[in-house]
Amino acid sequence: MNVDELRRSLAGSVLTSEDPEYDAARVSFNALVDRRPAVIAQCVGTGDVATAFDFARTHGLEVAVRGGGHNPAGHCVCDDGLVIDLSRMRTVEVDEGAGIARAGGGSTWLDFDTATQAFGLVTPGGVVGSTGVGGLTLGGGIGHLTAQHGLTCDNLIGAEVVTPDGTVVHAGPEDGELLWGLRGGGGNFGVATRLDFRLHPLERVVGGMLTYNGNGGRDALRRFRDVAASAGSDLSCQAGLSVDESLAPWAWVAPCYTGTNGDPKELRALRSAPGLMEDGVRAHLFSDQQRVFDSPYGENRHYWKGHFVRELPDELIDELLQRLTALGRPAGGILIESLHGAPKDTDPSNGVAGFRPAAFNVSVMATWQDPALDEESIQWTRDTAAAIEPWSFSGGGYVNYMQEDEPIERVRAAFGDEAFERLRALKRRYDPENALHRNQNVPPL
Ligand SMILES: Cc1cc2nc3c(=O)[nH]c(=O)nc-3n(C[C@H](O)[C@H](O)[C@H](O)COP(=O)(O)OP(=O)(O)OC[C@H]3O[C@@H](n4cnc5c(N)ncnc54)[C@H](O)[C@@H]3O)c2cc1C
Repeated sequence: MNVDELRRSLAGSVLTSEDPEYDAARVSFNALVDRRPAVIAQCVGTGDVATAFDFARTHGLEVAVRGGGHNPAGHCVCDDGLVIDLSRMRTVEVDEGAGIARAGGGSTWLDFDTATQAFGLVTPGGVVGSTGVGGLTLGGGIGHLTAQHGLTCDNLIGAEVVTPDGTVVHAGPEDGELLWGLRGGGGNFGVATRLDFRLHPLERVVGGMLTYNGNGGRDALRRFRDVAASAGSDLSCQAGLSVDESLAPWAWVAPCYTGTNGDPKELRALRSAPGLMEDGVRAHLFSDQQRVFDSPYGENRHYWKGHFVRELPDELIDELLQRLTALGRPAGGILIESLHGAPKDTDPSNGVAGFRPAAFNVSVMATWQDPALDEESIQWTRDTAAAIEPWSFSGGGYVNYMQEDEPIERVRAAFGDEAFERLRALKRRYDPENALHRNQNVPPL
């Protein structure tokens, strides 16, 4: 393999293990993943992506695609293969008049929000700024504005895509079937070098985080559930459960309200729950709301597994609280994202994301640092997810949070049988050799 040949033909840069930048460029969000690709192609345009695909094909190299590097399965990096790294394609252009943003395939939510907030505009994205726009959108996208404006992929109106044979195609009016597949079907069909989004006016929100300790955690989650059931589409809400070092439970609720009522009853209900420890909810800029969560990159080991659920009964809340102490040490947390509001109002035939009828996305997220705890932490996650399964909406999980070892049945169930077969037909059209298999894979029909 002549890497110099690739260096000469790429406008961007090419890294191998000889280069000082190599180690930083192969790090994934999840420290459980430690892979060494043969070559990293840091592309700067569609031509580079096509060249990188061509090089990989010629030399029989496996391909991985890196957007923001956040996928917990570590799909952004592979051993011995070629990484198509989009981290130098992060420009976000805003067409204020048309209400559209065009985001480079490697842009992050911080890039996106910075560009769009300069015009007082938003699209519903992820809650952590360093997450990739591409990966998150292609897997669905749940965040602080889900109730208001739907899933991120519902706001995707077009994309420029380089398919593994190097062809540039456009999803949108030119190819509605591809756009349908990109709205939730993952990075299965090609590399999106540009993603176009519909924008909405928004500058300020009432949001932040409320934390509750002790048994207040149980009550807070019950209130969160009831608020989500009755809230309109001007309030998005997420919640989480964990335990402290003494294994005492604590919970958080993160509302994001965009209505006109200065004192909405839903926020009053959350604030008056017993055990409220800290009230960080206030009127602030949307860009501040996007900083409520953060998570260190590449430092912790993670293993995630979850279910979309039909309901969140007291029994399930109690089960989750019990599971959090099962290891005798804090194992991580449980994230609960409400899917009320706009996701339910969107025509489901517009995209492949099949989970919108579910009430909540419940995700078990183990986090640890010591490799000696790998097996125990992974087993805890699996057992806790199994405890949620009786309430599962479809048996499928959220593809954006799936680990590499999820069986194909879980991916199929995430989309539903009919949509999965339709995705497989689309895959046959754009990637018949399954060159893009390092993802929540849809094998070609
Ligand atoms: C800290 C953290 C916070 C998160 N927050 C949220 C959240 O608020 N809401 C939510 O819904 N999800 C969230 N996620 C999950 C996240 O959406 C997925 O893990 C997603 O895959 C990350 O995208 P990425 O581009 O950063 O990841 P990468 O690991 O770089 O990419 C993952 C895969 O996506 C595909 N991909 C990425 N970019 C492109 C592209 N331009 N063209 C084609 N394929 C591409 C490729 O298959 C790639 O292997 C979060 C994850 C983390 C770790």
